[in-house]
Amino acid sequence: MAGGWTRRQVLAQATIAAAVYTLDPHELCCGVNAYAQTAGAESFELKKVGDGVWAAVAAARYKVNSNAAVIETNDGLVVVDTHSKPSAAQALYQDIQGVSKKPVKKIINSHFHWDHWQGNQVYAQANPGCEIIASERTKARLTDPNQMNGGVAFIEKQAAAMPAEIEQIKAAIQKAPDAAAKARLEGNLAQAEAYLAELKAMKPAVPTRTVSSTVALQEGGREIRLMLVGKAHTDGDLFIYLPKEKVLATGDAVVDWMPFLNDGYPEEWAQTVGELEKLDIERVIVGHGEPAPKSHLTFFRGYMTDLVAAVKKEAAAGASLDDMKKKIADDLAPKYEKGMSKYPLGQYRDRIGLNVEQAYNKTVKKS
Ligand SMILES: [Zn+2]
Ligand SMILES: [Zn+2]
Repeated sequence: MAGGWTRRQVLAQATIAAAVYTLDPHELCCGVNAYAQTAGAESFELKKVGDGVWAAVAAARYKVNSNAAVIETNDGLVVVDTHSKPSAAQALYQDIQGVSKKPVKKIINSHFHWDHWQGNQVYAQANPGCEIIASERTKARLTDPNQMNGGVAFIEKQAAAMPAEIEQIKAAIQKAPDAAAKARLEGNLAQAEAYLAELKAMKPAVPTRTVSSTVALQEGGREIRLMLVGKAHTDGDLFIYLPKEKVLATGDAVVDWMPFLNDGYPEEWAQTVGELEKLDIERVIVGHGEPAPKSHLTFFRGYMTDLVAAVKKEAAAGASLDDMKKKIADDLAPKYEKGMSKYPLGQYRDRIGLNVEQAYNKTVKKS
């Protein structure tokens, strides 16, 4: 769509950004902070992946946005995931109206993370009859007052943390080495301030309908399967599968960059993706990154399997966590570094140490 970024543009921007802003890898999706990019507004590129089905691929922003899937039926639209902020959902909603004027009748949240649901209110306000669907576990987490990384209570936690983040950016602007760096940081500052304002004004719309096992919706002449096939990125990951169009939307259970394991289940994850591989699939709309062929599921499952196996093996041999991080990063690199480093954010070397640590905590230490 107009205003969307080509991959080359994103990469060019990111190279500059990476040079001037050191990211805390804890903060990449789905932590609190994301990634530096200043130019333009919230934007998406609508890519047709089937008849009446689009992947809305999110442009890089300081506060990361998830992708969405847009599905047209005979009597309305279904949208999977709503990004990190109402302004982003609004931007996509406008783009959607360029391809179909039908009302959005259903929203589906793939999981509870902040960058996949905080725009729900835009669709709820545009159509008060709009249903918001998620798994039972996802709704429970969205409404849990102690939940981190997503949910109604987490909105306030983010708002409380933003002033310090804004001060950090202001301090970085003072130390900017050149005009380009300064301009970029000023763009981040504007986005951070705008995000804080959005958080304060947010009227979160939580799911109005939950599912606890796989169901097939017959939706205006189209079958939309809502699938629960096991734990992966969270304990409530909902997969959206169109059997006729052979399109699967995965949320963050499959991404085109390095996965975020903090709320994940590394051992079950590979098995869950393996269940998805049994489906007849032509295109996969991943949580972040470009739509992928089915072979990406196999690649991604391979990474989760090899990561867990390597952590267990090194732990059994008595390796320290620090040694394990270095060794596993190098051991798995020939197979995964290139494929997990296609974008400026969430790259292999940024994340592998954290992935090793989380896999160790969850499968060996069990903390
Ligand atoms: Zn995400
Ligand atoms: Zn996530």
